[in-house]
Amino acid sequence: MGPSGPGSRGPACADSSGVLLVRKSKAKPNGKKPAAEEKKMYLEPEYTKSRITDVGFKELVVLPREIDLNEWLASNTTTFFHHVNLQYSTISEFCTGEACQTMAVCNTQYYWYDERGKKVKCTAPQYVDFVMSSVQKLVTDEDVFPTKYGREFPSSFESLVKKICKYLFHVLAHIYWSHFKETLALELHGHLNTLYVHFILFAREFNLLDPKETAVMDDLTEVLCSGGGRGGGGGDGASGGGAGAQNHGKER
Ligand SMILES: [Zn+2]
Repeated sequence: MGPSGPGSRGPACADSSGVLLVRKSKAKPNGKKPAAEEKKMYLEPEYTKSRITDVGFKELVVLPREIDLNEWLASNTTTFFHHVNLQYSTISEFCTGEACQTMAVCNTQYYWYDERGKKVKCTAPQYVDFVMSSVQKLVTDEDVFPTKYGREFPSSFESLVKKICKYLFHVLAHIYWSHFKETLALELHGHLNTLYVHFILFAREFNLLDPKETAVMDDLTEVLCSGGGRGGGGGDGASGGGAGAQNHGKER
């Protein structure tokens, strides 16, 4: 099933929250894959196998009985934010305006939109900065992520959680796409894979990410999260299910 020709998917589409996705045709006219397709080091089996735990995340992400759904979404989203921030910080010295002039993942380029909806031209580190500061603002806003007893979650809570997940996904995808080599050199790819699997399975469990949004990383998701792999979708969780039970949502 070959692509129906350059530009068949349309050059650009803006999603509801204003992130513009630019998709170029995947195949060159001569049928060769673009160079970008050939450098996915993160797909190599010796690296995709690496994890920091055998925990069965598929079981771990399920809403525990007697826990309020919004509480569960809030505590996990906050934890993922901190972990993605931490993971990015390990390679941030390499993510410079010169090395990463745009926030690009595969053939997709992300643009930031300011509060007025104005498109902001920015480098990857600037984009990540926008992500981290806007998410930080949300998760520490008592009106959005209430922590005090008796305070209610806003009606917009779920859509805000989805927005946060989308941004965190962009950052994770950028780490894989542009900084996997450095992550490998630091021997932190097991951490990255583990965080990715946990995050994707959580988002999947509660429909927090648009499949169109995550399509750029489908090949990796397939390898990391499908049945066979350790700590992935696993299913039976025979080896690690018990050990993980006490670690709800906190990873550590
Ligand atoms: Zn970068």
